[in-house]
Amino acid sequence: MVSGPLQTSAHQPPANVRLTEHHAHLYEYGRSLTMVDASTVESAEALLDALADAVASSERAGRSCTRAFAARPEAWSSPEWPSLADLDRVTGKRPCCVWCFDYHAMLANTTALMLAGITASTPDPNGGVIGRDASGALTGVVYERCAGDVWNAMPDDGDAQRRRDTINAAKRFAGPFDEIHDLRSQIWLGSVLKAACETQGVDKRFVLYPLVDELDLALEGSRGWACDQVRLGGGKIFVDGTLNSRTAWMTRDYTDPMAGHPRGVAMMTPDAIEEAVRRCDEAGLPIAAHAIGDAAVRAVLDAIENVNPKTTGHRIEHAEVVDEADVPRFAKLGVTCSVQPCHLLYDIEAIRRFLPDRAARVLPLRELIDAGCKPGELLLFGSDAPIVRPDPADSLQAAIERRRVGMDESEAIAPDQAISFNEALECYLAR
Ligand SMILES: [Zn+2]
Repeated sequence: MVSGPLQTSAHQPPANVRLTEHHAHLYEYGRSLTMVDASTVESAEALLDALADAVASSERAGRSCTRAFAARPEAWSSPEWPSLADLDRVTGKRPCCVWCFDYHAMLANTTALMLAGITASTPDPNGGVIGRDASGALTGVVYERCAGDVWNAMPDDGDAQRRRDTINAAKRFAGPFDEIHDLRSQIWLGSVLKAACETQGVDKRFVLYPLVDELDLALEGSRGWACDQVRLGGGKIFVDGTLNSRTAWMTRDYTDPMAGHPRGVAMMTPDAIEEAVRRCDEAGLPIAAHAIGDAAVRAVLDAIENVNPKTTGHRIEHAEVVDEADVPRFAKLGVTCSVQPCHLLYDIEAIRRFLPDRAARVLPLRELIDAGCKPGELLLFGSDAPIVRPDPADSLQAAIERRRVGMDESEAIAPDQAISFNEALECYLAR
């Protein structure tokens, strides 16, 4: 199994072109630069060692908790998180949490779980899963909404730290990007970015997609921050989870599914998706729907078809697995397919293990273009940073080669869906 840091692709964008990052999370990217990076950890023991060091140094720095990100147990030789007892042993009573690299699963110690009100007797809430062993005891691993609950219950960083992290992210997104789309924008993000442009010399454009549930608040706030460089793009919803966590909503059963969730987790009902499309349409804005599994992608296309909104520019984010029958519907309905091919480089093990029968349906870029999704218009590329690094060469590599640098051709995922360098570059170009 290939793991460890990704090698740099030979497919680099030319130095003189300006690009748009169509899917990122600015504040989270900035904060990730201050967290324990677990991306190079290759076993449960190594993770525990890294956390023990981090706990000691955060104690010295006077910080109240320890956060880590980018753990990828799927690629470890023994793909199991450490036990909750072992985690508690190295982290003690200080809250500690470790994001899986896809931000849909998390390992948390007992203190962090308790801050979120999670004990062995807590039932799974809608849209969330609390990991338990055969005896019903907590494993410390929580999924989807429960991971978000634990994260939100961690001690607050404070406004000043948030501002610093966001501005740091805006500056670190240097290089070829002229425009950055933020795909789950906090209510305060617009004013922080406007100030960064005005006082910190940040000379990029930002397009914000707050949650549909917060759209009214965002519309009101945007009167104070909308400007040449910062604008409201639309409303964001989450329809399912991810492939790695086996929470992406699929039309068919996973091989080796999560207990009780043979086809993943639908986080919204069809009615709720239609309602969200309607709310955006009333505000004169498009929707941007997180949909990774083929059932989630279909549910969003159905909702847009049923509502028949007046606004244009609706986007499906990720669309990692798309059924053949749904491919022509993107161009027919004018829905943009906003993908992050770079995820393929990280998801190869999960696809082989959990979706061997659906591997041919992963990121069908060739079919989408042939069915009328013009690169740069109805087919867009991004990275989803900080889920993965924001290096456009990674998405070019995945779209053109369908495998990591150094992997044998026979290991490519759905090689028939490869597209050309020029087509892939068009999906990243700033307009
Ligand atoms: Zn995202």
